[in-house]
Amino acid sequence: MNPNRTPVIAGNWKMNPAAPGDALALANGVAERMGALPIETVVCPPTIWLESIAVALAGRIGVGAQTMASQEKGAFTGETSPLMLAGLAGWVIIGHSERRQYDGETDERVGLKTASAIAHGLRPIAAIGERLEQREAGETEAVIDRQLRAAVSQLERIAGSGLAVAYEPVWAIGTGNAASGADAQAVGAQIRAILVELGGEAAAEVPILYGGSVTAANATEFFGQPDIDGALVGGASLDPDGFAAIGAAAVGAVGR
Ligand code: PEP
Repeated sequence: MNPNRTPVIAGNWKMNPAAPGDALALANGVAERMGALPIETVVCPPTIWLESIAVALAGRIGVGAQTMASQEKGAFTGETSPLMLAGLAGWVIIGHSERRQYDGETDERVGLKTASAIAHGLRPIAAIGERLEQREAGETEAVIDRQLRAAVSQLERIAGSGLAVAYEPVWAIGTGNAASGADAQAVGAQIRAILVELGGEAAAEVPILYGGSVTAANATEFFGQPDIDGALVGGASLDPDGFAAIGAAAVGAVGR
């Protein structure tokens, strides 16, 4: 981590927990433990609970959506508009690999959604990463290059836009098989170089998160890397103590 960049620790709850009372308790538990930390803490609950959680949290920590439509309104059954999110959420995950895999999220749509999020005052966490067969075929660099350029292709500017990028190797998500710190750093450096190429030196400010089986036990390895500025956490974000321990590791890594 670079002490000049504020760490971002985001929890992707996916389709959990099943009961609204449990979701509120989880959000409050995270806020109690992490609200005072000098980092950006973000919880991303299922859409249906965004409003109640945003009200309960009252700004103590950040709230994010797990996806959104790029359009503002219209005939898009089941979707959520950025206009509906604005005011409730400050962040939104775009292009998570589960959306790419199960919901046909394409590189092109990721680009449109990332730009739409920024246009509506939301901070997108653009998620990119290679699948196992791509890694084994030596295609990681090419996949990252393609997905990242597509994600930022519709932006007028990168620096100052609020963009964050999450490197999430698909083979590491929910498997317990995290990447090594060195692998995450190699891709983190590639991402930062592309951002600077496209957006100038100021684009180096964009936070780059690692995601994929991050836990309190391995977080320090990632946060010790110069181009990793935080984590996008799935399973471990459902336990407030474990998630807070990841936040504490981020605080330690930047010496705040
Ligand atoms: C994720 O869903 O973005 C994720 C990284 O999940 P997990 O931490 O469970 O691997």
